[in-house]
Formats: sequence, structure tokens, C-alpha cells
Amino acid sequence: MKWKSIVIGMGLSLTLTGCSWAESLNSFSSDIQTPDVEQEQSSKEKEKTENSEQQKEETPQEENLPAAEEKEVEKKDSDGLTIVNEPKSIQVVVNKQRKLPEGYKPPDLVVPDVPFYFNEFHPKKQMREEAAKALEELFAGAKKNGIDLVAASGYRSYERQKSIYQQNVAERGEKEANQFSAKPGTSEHQTGLAMDVTSAQMAFKLKQSFRQTDEGEWLANHAHEYGFVIRYLKGKSDITGYSYEPWHLRYVGKDISTTIHNQEETLEEFFGLYPSS
Ligand SMILES: [Zn+2]
Repeated sequence: MKWKSIVIGMGLSLTLTGCSWAESLNSFSSDIQTPDVEQEQSSKEKEKTENSEQQKEETPQEENLPAAEEKEVEKKDSDGLTIVNEPKSIQVVVNKQRKLPEGYKPPDLVVPDVPFYFNEFHPKKQMREEAAKALEELFAGAKKNGIDLVAASGYRSYERQKSIYQQNVAERGEKEANQFSAKPGTSEHQTGLAMDVTSAQMAFKLKQSFRQTDEGEWLANHAHEYGFVIRYLKGKSDITGYSYEPWHLRYVGKDISTTIHNQEETLEEFFGLYPSS
């Protein structure tokens, strides 16, 4: 029974996270209900039709569509989750309401040349090429400032998440499983654009106290200079669906990361996928 307490312990230490192990043990935060922000096109603006007063046809107003949904309306799956249109975009927003297409695998996964807390190859060392390069630059920049970061967990496959989720459903029932286990396709780690970062001082754990360390402080202040954002901000769990994760980096490119950093926003707010007030 010893293993059981170890597993439970790990679960507790990582509750409310969107990361690595925590995906399987994920959290009481899954019951944080974020409003359904998929807004139907509403033609509030009434076309003034000069020739007929009775004519009130609903004319879709394309300019009213949120930026991220300009191209085509995103479909929903049988659970009501939105299936993202452009999973390969570095601007893709994946969360508990927005999932990657079934079986999606990023096209250009590589292992970034940065220190990990373990030596052997593991798929979770991978990131997409552009993100991996940016991560190498970030680690080099940190090093110059005497900050020793250690990478922990990046890419996580759809299949792995699926088997973990299905196992939880089999053991606990779907309703209960949904309270702590992420559905396949809904983890940002599956985009290949995320990396959890820690340090020796943290004993390579992912905990909120990371923010109080020199490494956590540096990351909060400088990640955006390399194209990354701290994805799950403090006090924004009603928007992101996750508690504060000072270790979870998400690559979005420098322009967006800088804007988001300066405005102290989440990706959801930036892309208009959540009501701003
Ligand atoms: Zn993470």
C-alpha cells in the first residue's frame, strides 16, 4: 500500500495544475466553470432597411466575430467542447472548453538543448521547433543572470492523455473522473508549445512557492522577452480553469507575449475568448 500513499502524495502536491502528472490527477479546478464564451453571431445592430419596415432579417455581421474565430466557425464535439481550427498555430488557445482535434500530434517536435531534471530521452522533453529554440534562448538568458533553470515537462501526447482519462473513467465513472482528470485534447502540453520549468532549489517540483525563488522571480519578469507567457496567472483561475502555475511556460511569440505581459492578461482575454468584464 505504500505506493498508493506516494501516488496520493504526488497528486496532492500537484493539485490544480494543468501540468504533467497533474493532468491525470488533475485537480479540483476542473469544476471551475468558465462561462461558455462561444458566442453566436448576434445581429444586435439592426439593419435599417429603408424600403421595408417589417423586414428584420438576421444578417451575420462578420466584423463582430472575435479575432481568433475569423476564419471559420469552430465545431463542437459531443461533449460540447470546441474543437480548435488551427492546432498548428503558435497562437492556438487550448483549455477546458477548447480542445485539439482527435489524435493531433505537433509536426515538428524536437528536444530543446536545455538542462532537464533527468537524462534519458522521454517524449515529454519535446517541444515544437520554434518553441524549443526560444526556450534555449530563454535558458541562456537566465544563465547570464545567474539563474539556473531546469526543464521538467513539455509535450504530452493525445494518446497518453486518452489512456489516462479512460482509465480514470473506468475506475471512477465519467462524472467523477471529470472532476480531476483532463479530457484528451484539452491539455496545453499536447500543443508542444508548453514547458514546465523548475529548479534544483525546488527539488525539481512544480509548486507555487517557485514564484518566491530567484528563478521564479526571473521567469515572471523575463519570460515574455523570449516569446513565452506564464500561462496560468494568479487570480485568473475563473478564466483559465487552472490555479496559479508560475512554472508553466507557453510559447506564443514575442509580440503577443510582450503585450500580454504588459497588460497582465491571459490568452483567453487577449484573444477575446472570455468576456473582459
Ligand atoms: Zn504545465
